[in-house]
Amino acid sequence: MLGLLRSWRLRGNPVTVLCYHTIGPDIGGPDAWTVLRAADFRAHLSALQQTHDIVGLDQAIADGPGNRGKPRAVLTFDDGEAGNHRHLLPILTERQIPVTIFVATGQIETGQPYWFDQIMGALTASAAIDLTDHGFGRWNIPPNPGPSRWAAVSALLEALKRVAPDRRSTIVADILSQHPLPAGRPPLGPMTRAELAEIAAIPGVTIGAHSHCHNLLDQIPVDEAEASMARSRSLLQGWTGQEVAHFAWPNGNHTPALRQRARRLGFRSASALDMRLWRASADPYALPRLGIGRYDDVTRLRLRLLET
Ligand SMILES: [Zn+2]
Repeated sequence: MLGLLRSWRLRGNPVTVLCYHTIGPDIGGPDAWTVLRAADFRAHLSALQQTHDIVGLDQAIADGPGNRGKPRAVLTFDDGEAGNHRHLLPILTERQIPVTIFVATGQIETGQPYWFDQIMGALTASAAIDLTDHGFGRWNIPPNPGPSRWAAVSALLEALKRVAPDRRSTIVADILSQHPLPAGRPPLGPMTRAELAEIAAIPGVTIGAHSHCHNLLDQIPVDEAEASMARSRSLLQGWTGQEVAHFAWPNGNHTPALRQRARRLGFRSASALDMRLWRASADPYALPRLGIGRYDDVTRLRLRLLET
């Protein structure tokens, strides 16, 4: 039965593109969807290698979906988090698998985590958040780590994503005054430029751009979005000494006008989310990816690969 399902799903030999964010320790670490435990990632790799060839994004684009042969998977990581250096880099060195890391440069340049990482880093236990002064309600984060706690954090993040950046900054500052980040290097935040240069130099690692501002690009003027896309690419090229040819839309948000700008800027692809496999009909400026997170252990990954 599973074999039938698998062969139906793989009709036309699509490419499976997975979107991770960062890797964390096996025990402890931030209980955030974006942080997959290292042991789970190793198990993902072993499971994928049984059924797929893990190929680089350039290779997948060159071959395209619909190619005969073993199914292919592409692994991508969004944002440029410090966990990529601390926990992913040793696994890449050991396993020699190709990955693409889409780096949002604003947080690398300033060394300060984006607002969403600050919130995830601050809300590590149960929390009651009063945002009624902002007309933003009250939020309760339950205590026990796991998917149901994450659902409450995620609801707050999703609501904040849709607020204009200035108003959002005010609300985020209030959340952090009620629930401060721990002292020291925040639990979630960017690689340093030195760490980025180190991981970029590993054979098989491709660095892609992910905007400078990491705003949802469909919610800001298109010229501003284009400038943010171009700035992230030129900074990354300067920092790594490598050509940056691929882009990923923050949060997967894009429009026809934005896709046209990505093409005009000379990017060869732009990745979205969409929870679908990449089939021959896909627009190269809206490549579908499956978002994979902390609560996707290897059993759930296998199920999700069959579902899509
Ligand atoms: Zn992102």
